[in-house]
Amino acid sequence: MLQALHLFGFLPNMLEWSGNPCHQGCDYCYAKMWKRENEPIEKFINFVLKQENKKEGLLPFLVRKRSPITISNRTDIMCAPDWRERLEAVKKLGFPVYLETKLNKDYKDLAQILDTDKDTVYQTITGCNNQYEDKNLLTAEEKIQAAKWLNKQGIHHILAVNPFMPDKCNTDDVKKMIDEIKPHGVVMRDYHKPSSGLAKKYYQAEYPKDVCKQARDDIRDYCRVKKIDHDIDLFGQDTPFYADNNLRASDNARSFGGNHFVKQEFAIYVQKIIDAQGLDWVEISFDGALKFFQRQIDFFKDCIIKPGDYNIHTGSSYKKQEGNIGIIEFFREHWNGNWFKDCFDKTKKLDHSNSVIYFRGKCGFDKFAKE
Ligand code: SF4
Repeated sequence: MLQALHLFGFLPNMLEWSGNPCHQGCDYCYAKMWKRENEPIEKFINFVLKQENKKEGLLPFLVRKRSPITISNRTDIMCAPDWRERLEAVKKLGFPVYLETKLNKDYKDLAQILDTDKDTVYQTITGCNNQYEDKNLLTAEEKIQAAKWLNKQGIHHILAVNPFMPDKCNTDDVKKMIDEIKPHGVVMRDYHKPSSGLAKKYYQAEYPKDVCKQARDDIRDYCRVKKIDHDIDLFGQDTPFYADNNLRASDNARSFGGNHFVKQEFAIYVQKIIDAQGLDWVEISFDGALKFFQRQIDFFKDCIIKPGDYNIHTGSSYKKQEGNIGIIEFFREHWNGNWFKDCFDKTKKLDHSNSVIYFRGKCGFDKFAKE
């Protein structure tokens, strides 16, 4: 589905833009029924200029702050005939970009367009062969060669094994790609169907969860040994969080000066307290989170969030919000919703300000904890 620039992320810190249809033609693609016509780049530019002048709203605020733009998890700009013009226009407006792509044969031109210090190429490679992807613009071997080339140029490159499909790619294949490509970061996500029942015929069956989990754990360990930044699904679920080589934290630092709200950074901080004090578990309060995120709160302090600003992913705050609110109220809405459910257990207790109290055991989620 083509989309104008919009908010992106669970507590939105980023922007996302999908301006052209993807022609890579992957068999497993969950987005193929969303393909539409190209949107002219002028439409994007005009939209940005219009947003910049609005005094209120989360999206105008992030546009003014030049929050990174993800292009895009639903389309691939490298499929657009005028992809260079599109990318150059976004860069000329001053946005860092997070380019999600399977690349095309002219990928070397990226070296002239992207900044090595803030931009990222998030290249999806799902294995050492093109099973399920034989219509892609590059062969599997070409993708691996392209990845190696981009890394050699100093372009910040993420190898995204996304989705991980165990009938196509085993963990030895992933390790082989990591060793050959030497990426700055590794991302691994399971294949999953959408939660809605729409258009089920477009989706293939999911893979056994235990096989995927074992593979994720294995690659997480491998990245850790190799000291490569990584973001692999369900980090810290049945193990302690660890601080080293956290890709979300390092992306936050390099692309947006550390001003984003990154849940994993807070989760790691909590884990450090547990470990340093030898605790079996802790309760986590909203006040503690506010203190931890003081820098981010300061950064967003002039942001006026309007009802309807944020209606993606959870929608909970969107439905409840009455009138304009500031960043602390906005953060509280998400805290009391499900924002931390992938880091901590939610208790039924409330604190003095009616904010939810979370719980974390030293070995992981209470429901997964080994002790
Ligand atoms: S590259 Fe991504 S968006 Fe394009 S067809 Fe493949 S999975 Fe779909």
